[in-house]
Amino acid sequence: MHPTHPQQLGGAAAAAADVAAAGAGEGTRLDPWFGAYAQRAHGMRASEIRALFSVANRPEVVSLAGGMPFIQGLPLEVIGESMKRLIMTKGATALQYGSGQGDVELRERILEVCALEGITNAHPDDVVVTTGSQQALDLVTRIFVDPGDVVLAEAPSYVGALGVFRSYEAEVEHVPMDAHGLVPEALEAALVEARRAGKKVKFLYTIPNYHNPAGVTLTLERRHQVLEICQRFGVLIVEDNPYGLLGFDREPLPAMRAFDDEGVLYLGSFSKTFAPGYRVGWVIAPHAVREKLVLASESSILSPSNASQMAITTYLDTCDWKGQIKSYRELYRERRDATIGALAEYLPSATWNVPDGGFYVWVKLPEGLDSRSMLPRAVTERVAYVPGTAFFYDGQGADHMRLSFCYPTPERIREGVRRLANVVNAESEL
Ligand code: PMP
Repeated sequence: MHPTHPQQLGGAAAAAADVAAAGAGEGTRLDPWFGAYAQRAHGMRASEIRALFSVANRPEVVSLAGGMPFIQGLPLEVIGESMKRLIMTKGATALQYGSGQGDVELRERILEVCALEGITNAHPDDVVVTTGSQQALDLVTRIFVDPGDVVLAEAPSYVGALGVFRSYEAEVEHVPMDAHGLVPEALEAALVEARRAGKKVKFLYTIPNYHNPAGVTLTLERRHQVLEICQRFGVLIVEDNPYGLLGFDREPLPAMRAFDDEGVLYLGSFSKTFAPGYRVGWVIAPHAVREKLVLASESSILSPSNASQMAITTYLDTCDWKGQIKSYRELYRERRDATIGALAEYLPSATWNVPDGGFYVWVKLPEGLDSRSMLPRAVTERVAYVPGTAFFYDGQGADHMRLSFCYPTPERIREGVRRLANVVNAESEL
C-alpha cells in the first residue's frame, strides 16, 4: 500500500510514485465492475508507455520515453491558413460523414507517397484509410485472430501492436532479430515449430524500417527471404511501416508490398512524416481483405474523419511535403547523433545500436541491471525512458531500455543521458 497518494507528493517524487503505482496495477482491486468485464478486457492493461506519459510530460523531466514527432518543426502558419481555407471553401464536405473506406482523393495521394517506397502495383481501391495505423492494427487483428491463434512478431516488437494482440487474446511468439532485422532462419524455425505443435499462425507482424524499438532495418535480401518463407507456409505478412521515409543516410528500401500484392497487408501513416494529431493512416490490402477491413472499420467508427483526410490532401497538394520530410530527417539525424554521443560519453558501460533512421535507440544495460525496477529512480532523477519489458509479450527485456530521440532538443538529450548515467551508476553500486 502507498502511504501517501501520489497527488499529495511534489514534482519528481510524485512522478516516481505514479510510475510505481501504475506498475503495481493499482485500481483493478477497487473497481466495482471488475467481475462484469468480458474475458478479453481482463487482458487489457495500460502499457508501460501510457503509465509514463503523465510523468514524462512534466517540464522538469527529460523524456526519452514517448515517440512523439517534433511537430514544432512544421510550418504551422501555412498549415493554419490552409485549414481555414479548407473549412471556408469545402466545409460542407469536410464537416460531414464520409466514406467508410476513406476519401478517394486522399487514397490517390497515399499511393503517390507509397511510390517513394517502390509500391507502384496498387490501386486507390486497394487502400483503406484508418484512424492512424493503430486502428489498422486493431482492424487487421479483429478480422484475422481468434483467441489462441498465433501471431509472430519480432523480439522486441511495438508495444501498441502487442496491446492489440493481447486484447484479441492472440498468442504472440517472438522471432529473434539481429543488426539486419528479423532473422529469416528463425522465422522458418518458428513456423515449422508452430506447424509441428498444430498451432494456427495467422500472420507475421513486422516493422521492416527503423524498427520500434530496436532501430534496425531489414535488408533487401532478407525482405525477399521473408516473403519467400511466408509464401511457402501460406502465412500473411502485416508490414507496418510508419518510419520508412525517415532514413538519415540513404533512400528508402522497397517495401515488401512492392513485391507481393496478395500476401502482404501494408500499413502506413502520416503520423511521423507529417503530424499524428490528424490521426490518419492506411492499409493496402488485397480485394477480399479490403472488404472485410471496411466493414470492420464502419462498425467501429462509421467513417474516418473527413476533416482530417481533406486537411492532409490539402497539405500534400499545397505544401512542400517532401521538403518537410527532408527537414525532419535532418532534425532527427542531429538528435540521433546527440544521443549516441552522450551515450558514448556518459554511459560507456552500456551497449546500443546506431539507428540510421526513425526515432529509437535500443540500449542494453550493464550486466545485472533491471530497467523496470530502475524506472522510479530515473524519474526521481528527472529522466524517463521505456523499459525493455514493454516490448515483449512474455516479460523478457528487463536488460534493455528504449530511448526516443525525436522530441527533446540535442541539449536536453545530453542532459537526459547524463541523468540516466547517474541512475545506472547508482544502481550498479547496490
Ligand atoms: N506502428 C508503429 C511501429 C508505431 O511506432 C506507431 C506509433 N508509435 C504506430 C504503429 C501507430 O501510429 P499511428 O496510429 O499514429 O499511425
